[in-house]
Amino acid sequence: MLATAELPVGLRAEVTSRLASPDLGRWLAQVQQVGACARPIRLVGFSDTIDAVTGEVLRSFTTSSEPDGLAYTRCGNRRRKVCESCSHQYQGDVFHLIMAGAGGGMKDVPAEIVTHPLVFATMTAPSFGPVHASKKPGRPGSRRCRPRSGTGRQLCAHGRPLWCMSVHDHDAPVVGQPLCADCYDYLGHLVWQWWAPELWRRFTITLRRMLARHVGLSETACKQLVRVQFAKVAEFQRRGLIHFHALIRLDGRPVAGDPFPPPAVAVDPDTLARLIHQAAAQVRYDAPAIDGADVVRSLRFGAQVDVRAVHGQADRENTAGAELHPETVAAYVAKYATKAAADLVGEQSGNTHLLRVKKLVRKVAVRALAGGLMAEDNPYRGLGRWADMLGFRGHFASKSRRYSTTLGRLRQARRDHVRSRLNAAQIGEAVRVGDDGDLAELEHTTLVVGSWRFAGIGWLTGGDAALAAASAARARDD
Ligand SMILES: [Zn+2]
Ligand SMILES: [Zn+2]
Ligand SMILES: [Zn+2]
Repeated sequence: MLATAELPVGLRAEVTSRLASPDLGRWLAQVQQVGACARPIRLVGFSDTIDAVTGEVLRSFTTSSEPDGLAYTRCGNRRRKVCESCSHQYQGDVFHLIMAGAGGGMKDVPAEIVTHPLVFATMTAPSFGPVHASKKPGRPGSRRCRPRSGTGRQLCAHGRPLWCMSVHDHDAPVVGQPLCADCYDYLGHLVWQWWAPELWRRFTITLRRMLARHVGLSETACKQLVRVQFAKVAEFQRRGLIHFHALIRLDGRPVAGDPFPPPAVAVDPDTLARLIHQAAAQVRYDAPAIDGADVVRSLRFGAQVDVRAVHGQADRENTAGAELHPETVAAYVAKYATKAAADLVGEQSGNTHLLRVKKLVRKVAVRALAGGLMAEDNPYRGLGRWADMLGFRGHFASKSRRYSTTLGRLRQARRDHVRSRLNAAQIGEAVRVGDDGDLAELEHTTLVVGSWRFAGIGWLTGGDAALAAASAARARDD
């Protein structure tokens, strides 16, 4: 299972002692119970399940009879870099959540949802200066980064070329870096990123307004007939700016017994796409200046707005290969759900551009704090906390309430499933403490009384961590 001979001596001793321990089987069950999480939370404590009517203790669980006197719960981190197991689970949840709202027929969303107009939209950031680009083969036009044109200015104010004749690989570190860092508008980049969630919010308001105008009704009257539902993720581009990918669907007004009715007015996907284009082009936000020396910037989305119809099962046979299907979109969105800006910066540790953005975030945050009496209502206060996100403070993935099911409901379903599979006594009550403190799965006639204490993060020893990682690798290979 694990090539112990290759391990350092200290680690080898820890592994050997675990493998020789009499409660190895129970320890392995603990590993399995948290899906071989890379950094589980260690807990010490007890819980009693009590019959609320008779007061009889139905089940007792205490960590004192567990291996090492500990119980474990998953770290729940969505980032692949932090925990392969939990990020895999998170990715699956996001896939199902997106899939349910796009394809229907699962997770309480009816199959008829595929008849509703649905599009996949991508909203980008504007340019803050030319950056190196990689171009996919097979597309029309040159694959060169920024071909030199015969006319116009060839050099920037700093004497650097405004062109680049190279063909860059997608993974080349130079991709996303400015042609001239001195020309690049870093402050503008940062201000846009900070207010991107506000731009998105204004976009949704504008879209609803345009939909009402298209239908020829007031917004209030329009809401009775058609509603906009969405699910979106923020993806970090190589230049360190986010863009939004969103599934946007039209429903009718939800009523008791039918939470997902079709819209009561006919709006085809092409019309929806046109309204989205118009709304995205119209949205503006005048961002406050960062300090007295700065200017007010009128922020907007980039000119590149991509909107494509998503076709459900119903008309699958009639669509060409280039069309988007619910599975394609769900997989695409889920792929980005386990990445973070920190990973982008980490993967490219020598990336001076991203480091520069990060440094600027910190610098502006310090300036905002030093603003004296104004600091309290400085809109850039708190910016420093988001340095690892390169100044993006929005939700990484979000959705309107009625898009489909919720992550909480998916987790509940999985917990019920795990419980039925494994011995309840082994799982213990610790499982729920780490998840969301939700006790609803127990019958109303029982009561859980317990006390838990945080005992640390990660496996107890490096040897345990190596064994858990080996178990995770084996589970992946199966
Ligand atoms: Zn984990
Ligand atoms: Zn280039
Ligand atoms: Zn320059």
